Amino acid sequence: MSRTWIRNPLAIFTANGLDAAGGLVVEDGRIVELLGAGQQPAQPCASQFDASRHVVLPGLVNTHHHFYQTLTRAWAPVVNQPLFPWLKTLYPVWARLTPEKLALATKVALAELLLSGCTTAADHHYLFPGGLEQAIDVQAGVVEELGMRAMLTRGSMSLGEKDGGLPPQQTVQEAETILADSERLIARYHQRGDGARVQIALAPCSPFSVTPEIMRASAEVAARHDVRLHTHLAETLDEEDFCLQRFGLRTVDYLDSVGWLGPRTWLAHGIHFNAEEIRRLGEAGTGICHCPSSNMRLASGICPTVELEAAGAPIGLGVDGSASNDASNMILEARQALYLQRLRYGAERITPELALGWATRGSARLLGRSDIGELAPGKQADLALFKLDELRFSGSHDPLSALLLCAADRADRVMVGGVWRVVDGAVEGLDLAALIARHREAASALIAG
Ligand SMILES: [Zn+2]
Repeated sequence: MSRTWIRNPLAIFTANGLDAAGGLVVEDGRIVELLGAGQQPAQPCASQFDASRHVVLPGLVNTHHHFYQTLTRAWAPVVNQPLFPWLKTLYPVWARLTPEKLALATKVALAELLLSGCTTAADHHYLFPGGLEQAIDVQAGVVEELGMRAMLTRGSMSLGEKDGGLPPQQTVQEAETILADSERLIARYHQRGDGARVQIALAPCSPFSVTPEIMRASAEVAARHDVRLHTHLAETLDEEDFCLQRFGLRTVDYLDSVGWLGPRTWLAHGIHFNAEEIRRLGEAGTGICHCPSSNMRLASGICPTVELEAAGAPIGLGVDGSASNDASNMILEARQALYLQRLRYGAERITPELALGWATRGSARLLGRSDIGELAPGKQADLALFKLDELRFSGSHDPLSALLLCAADRADRVMVGGVWRVVDGAVEGLDLAALIARHREAASALIAG
């Protein structure tokens, strides 16, 4: 039995108001005790970690991403495009994805997230071209290799161009193929209960790329197996127009019409809602993943986080795919959320603690998890520790605010389930230079076709 005392942090954010100024004690992968200033652990600890130069956070939780897109970052033809033309230009490139390229892309995205203090990541993967039928299996292998937690969502596209959808025909699948694979993946990978490493959710891509039938059927499968539902919604006004023209419904009415307006669902973006729709989303307890960088890059709009949260909708954060961010950095995303939301609600209302709360406890709620996202006895020992010794922090005073205001971008140490996965700013057991070399080559090959 090994107890470790993460001792006397420079600053600590528990995400729940509990005091842990004296640090916390970890045993068997969980937090067993929080200590006030000057307090000693109740029982002797076999080891201690001196955190007096570290700001300690709960491991950050990313609730929306497309790992495969790390292969198409900052690609010139789409640098200055909004969502629909951006997608139409990228779809044919993405259709060439292979298992090897997906494995590399997933590893790059996860390593980047881990180094930014993220311990749990959701991915929305909806591309299954010929040869890539095992996409989620590929991703699950990489998650295990890096020792992180993930919510892998079985995405889908079933409405191709010839039927009035946005994606090209070669990227869509038949409903029965999608549903059979969804069932297979839940049975194979979905872990339940505290400490789960891999979970599966069902994630038809967006109103303009799937049929209402696959939305309804996915909701039924998810209810039957008690797994979560995820999709993109109310990201742009183009999407709203599409829903009005095709279904005669606004986005939330559409969501309701296919049985998705409930607490099992979390949505990426959630920007273009009216007051009545916000009330309904809050009443339903539907979660919203705010993706500030992507929303700024594609000029999609600003998520009404404060109204949604006040109405009862949990708010979390997501970096979104690497073709629209183009970074996979969760601590920088919390900074973006702080600043973008200040533009909407003012500086007094949007605090660093609020943004960090979204990146941790709020995000965990979106994924239906109560065992991560905060520091308290009984929670998983998922921790992100940042040092403030770089040039950018010199002269800063409040350590917690400095993390976001001075733009911390890399954790010094990250623990997942009681095990250090990042030490001295490097991922344990990962040859980063070799990974970058192979990933760059794969990215060039994908574009070359
Ligand atoms: Zn997305």
